[in-house]
Parts: sequence; structure tokens; C-alpha cells
Amino acid sequence: MSDTGQKRKIPPIPVSDTTTLVNKTGSWKYIRPVYQDRVAPCNAGCPVGIDIEGYMNLLREERTDEAMDLLLRENPIPAVTGRVCDHPCEVVCNRRYFDEAVAIHSVERTLGDRILDAPLPAQIPRTHDERIAVIGSGPAGLACAYHLTRQGYAVTVFEAAAEAGGMLRLGIPEYRLPRDVLDRQIARIEALGVEFKCATVVGHDVFWDDLADFAAVFVATGAHDGRKMGMEGEDVEGVRSGLDFLKEVNRGERPEVGKKVVVVGGGNTAMDCARTALRLGAEPIVLYRRTRNEMPAIEQEIEEAEHEGIEFIFLAAPLASRSENGKVAGIECQRMELGPPDDSGRRRPMPIDETFYLEADTVLAAIGELPDIGFVPEEISGNKNAIQVTLVGGTGRATVFAGGDVTDDERTVAYALGSGKRAAIGMDRYLRSRTGAGDGVGPESLSIGPEGNLSMTRWRDDDPIHRESPVNEVVTYGELNPNHFVHLPGHPDHHMEVEEAKKGFGEANQGLPDDEAVAEALRCLNCGVCNQCELCMIFCPDRAIHRKADGTGLYVDLDYCKGCGVCAEECPRGAIAMVKEDA
Ligand code: FAD
Repeated sequence: MSDTGQKRKIPPIPVSDTTTLVNKTGSWKYIRPVYQDRVAPCNAGCPVGIDIEGYMNLLREERTDEAMDLLLRENPIPAVTGRVCDHPCEVVCNRRYFDEAVAIHSVERTLGDRILDAPLPAQIPRTHDERIAVIGSGPAGLACAYHLTRQGYAVTVFEAAAEAGGMLRLGIPEYRLPRDVLDRQIARIEALGVEFKCATVVGHDVFWDDLADFAAVFVATGAHDGRKMGMEGEDVEGVRSGLDFLKEVNRGERPEVGKKVVVVGGGNTAMDCARTALRLGAEPIVLYRRTRNEMPAIEQEIEEAEHEGIEFIFLAAPLASRSENGKVAGIECQRMELGPPDDSGRRRPMPIDETFYLEADTVLAAIGELPDIGFVPEEISGNKNAIQVTLVGGTGRATVFAGGDVTDDERTVAYALGSGKRAAIGMDRYLRSRTGAGDGVGPESLSIGPEGNLSMTRWRDDDPIHRESPVNEVVTYGELNPNHFVHLPGHPDHHMEVEEAKKGFGEANQGLPDDEAVAEALRCLNCGVCNQCELCMIFCPDRAIHRKADGTGLYVDLDYCKGCGVCAEECPRGAIAMVKEDA
């Protein structure tokens, strides 16, 4: 009361002398919040099964060594994938709806390079009697060998080429993947104990029957036979396979191609042929029968080719070559238009009544490659990945799996790595259950999201990250609360000056410096996962949310939570679900 004598109409306020915690105000709620770690779309979209969100979060917490360890649990060659993967993870990144997708590939590349700078890993002790044969040392073979060696098996890789790496060495040019990066990456796999037998062609130097001593065989021989274009006069000098041309250049040769080079195709091989020819002094033109939208090449590669000034002619296909003195002089081309979609879902190119002529010193066919599995006995050859179809066939004693480009899986490095892992899990599962030690874990429980990408960490049951009630459900952007996010521009990769890049085979895309890569990791929204931002704690009107004593997360004191749902509403990451009290 004031000393003016006027009474203020304030109702009496109860004040307690002691704690009010005795009143368990949460007893009448009918729904309660539950922390659930759900699946970030990047993780679900990664064919390699990498816990991308997990390593981004570790980087946020400045736990770089643990981030590298987490990455290596699923991916044997992160310095390679950071450079050449088509990063399907970024295509589904929720951040793209907010400002722009996180440049996951650049963060992976930075971590991968840091891994390469670390001392070689120690050899893994062998804990199983069975020996495994892997045929082919591309990404599929490397992944299978790596994971099985880490599981304690003795693995021998048979490789036809003089050095391991598959298409990473034979097809992908050095200006995209420097060979010292590949060499050092493979050296780390070898250090684990993988035995490489290079310059050994199965079917020529070693025969199928020689593999009977191995308990399981992984066929990962890729697709190396260049498809023919079906054009009249295809066998004339100067018309050749684009992949053979790339292989030659990647061996260090510098074939004479002349100035006018026509590259036929719209995939990675075509982009690599054109950019390689450019570096040999040519003025390449890419001829593609559909439009830019339908090009199967990685977007980044197309953009870099455009940036380097490569000319494209869309909606055109080669009809016939014209030659002078027994050598190609040009090609007659057919104009096309797009019709209804074909089996691939892309609109079918249809010829229209118009042709044109292109002069050419060299024509490179880059319209796809076919596998050659003539060395596998017919009764065994099949093209299914392991685990869905565990047993493809057998030599009598060995079990046979196949993966990567030799199967009808998608032809990318990421899919090949994923298929190698799938085979490794399938073999381990098969071999252990055969000895009575199989643990009965099925592929469903290893899947990350709906695509069926498998987690080796779950198979090994040694996840270093504490997961709060994991739920195999992908978090959509609509389930996030973007009000708590701050717009931050992304960090584009740094590139060598175009004029400089065109002069040689130095790495054109130079990635990000460390500080920018970390800043990029900090842009990750950690979709679906509690990263202990404490906003739920701050917003809880009942002050019922607390930090766990062991620092592993937050918890809701259900005695005082009234189930208002504010925490779930405010959670920026969709990591809190409201469930019925009796659920
Ligand atoms: P491969 O990498 O082809 O490896 C198979 C290996 O098996 C080879 O080393 C071969 O020598 C060996 N081999 C074959 N037969 C035998 C035998 N009988 N005995 C012993 N060894 C044998 N994908 C991307 O994701 N990003 C890219 O940027 C990209 N660029 C590409 C560029 C080009 C030019 C090409 C051709 C492909 C590109 N790809 C790219 C696709 C990618 O390279 C493949 O999908 C991937 O390498 C397939 O891996 P793999 O292990 O199945 O086969």
C-alpha cells in the first residue's frame, strides 16, 4: 500500500517459504515430449551410408579427430569422394529451402585431405580363418576389401591394371583427381593389411577355378568396353572410344587429336574427354542427343566444362563419318527433338528432318561402357548386389557376390562404394552364420532411411555417437523450425584461373581452405538430431528440461512437464516428438 492512503487493487499472491517441487504439476498431462534422433536427408541420400550429419556436428564441437573417425567408418576414400562424388546428399539437403545447400563435398574433401596427412593406420589383426578374393580395385573392390579387412578377414585384390584404383585412375582425369591423392588413399587401405595383386587379369593370369580356395569372391570388374555409336563409318581412323582416349592420357601419353575434336555423349566420360582434349590444345565440341537438362554427367562437371569454354551442340546425334585419305574429316549429324519419356525416365530423342555437317580431326565416342564378365562361369554370372541376393552363385566352395558398375546399379563412385560395403556385410553375415556365429541382424536394421543404404557402424555395433532413441525416419524441412536459423551464405569451391587450368592437368577445383570448410560445416542444420542447442530448455514454461549430468544430452523431468508441446514446437531440428502418455 502506498503512503498516499489509496489502496491498489492487487490480488493476494501466494508465496511459498519452501520449494514447490512437491506439487508434481506434470501428473495430469496426456502427451509428453520424447527426444528422438531421426535421419537427416543427407544421411539417407548417401549411397555410401556416411553419417554426414554426425561428422558435421562433431566439427561444430571442434572434435575433428572424431569427425574423421566417423567418416572413415563408412567411407574408405573420403579425399576421393570429396572431389569426384556427385554428392546426392546435397541435392536433398534441407538447407536448400532456407538459403542454399551445405557444400558437403567440400567439407568431406577437407576432412579427407586431413586424414591423408595423418600417419598410416596400423595393420588390422586377422581374426577369421576365411580368405576373401576381390576382383577389381575400383571403388567397389576397394570398399569391400577395406570393410572386410577391418572385420578381421584376409583379403586379396586381383587387379588387371598395373596399379589399383579402377576408373578413379584409368578414367577420371588428373585435373579432377590428382594421382597423389589417390595413391595416398590406396596406401592407407593397403596399410590395413589388404593384399593387392596388380597386373593380374582374372581369366588370363589367374583362373576362376584358382579362386576356389577363397571362402567368398567379390566381382567388381566395372564396365570398360566403350559402347559403339552405331554410326556409319565408325571404324575409320580418328573415330575412337572416348574411354580408351582417357586411359591413354591418364597413363601419361599425349595422343595427337588435332584441333577439331567432336565428343559424342553427355555423361562424365564425355565431359572428361572434352576437357582433356581442351588441355591437349583442341577446340572440342560436345554433341548430345538430348538437352542440357537430361545430361547424365555430374552438374559440377558440366558447369566446369562450360566455364572452360567447351562448346555444346544439343539435340543432335552422329549419322555417318566422312573421311579423307582414310582418316576422319568430319561427321554428318542428325537434328533431334525430345519425345515422350523412355525407360530411363528421360525424354526420348527423336530424329527430325534436318542434318548438318561438323568438321572433325578426331571423334570420341563417349556414350557409355559395357561390362565384360566373360571370365565368370555362365552358371554363376549374375548381376545382383549382395545382401538382397546374398548368394549369386558358387565355385563349389566359394560364395560369389558382385557390385559396382559390373551390376546394373547406378554408375557412380558412391554407388560402387556402397555396393562394396553391402557385399562385405553380406559376406561377413554369410560366413559367420555358416559357422554358427551370425547374429541374425537383417539389412532392414542397418538401413539409413528408405533407400536401403547400409551402415557399417550399425553392423559392427560400435557407434561412437550416443543416439537418443534412433528412429529411421527422414526429417523434412517442414518439420524444422527455421525461425531459429540465421541466413549464412555458402562457400563456393575455389578454382584455378580458367586460362591457367586449360594449360595443363593441375587440379582445377581447389576446394575450400580449412576455415571456410569449418564455416560450411557450421551451416549444417543437424536435421532431426538433438545437438543440445538448449532452446527447448529455454522455452519450457515449466522449467522441466535439464541437462543430463553426464553431458550426453537433455532430459525432460516428466513430473513437472505439463505436455504443452512448446519444446517440440520450438525445437529447430524436429528432434522432439510429442507422444501419448500411454505410448
Ligand atoms: P571400376 O572403377 O571400373 O574398377 C574395376 C576394376 O576392375 C578396374 O581397375 C579393372 O582394371 C579391373 N578389372 C576388370 N576386369 C578384370 C579382370 N578380369 N581381372 C582383374 N581385374 C579386372 N562417377 C562419379 O561418381 N563421379 C565422377 O566424377 C565420375 N567420373 C567418371 C569419369 C569417367 C571417364 C568414367 C568412365 C566414369 C566416371 N564415373 C564417375 C563412374 C565411376 O568411375 C564408376 O561408377 C566407378 O568407378 C565404378 O567402380 P567399380 O569398382 O565398379 O569399377
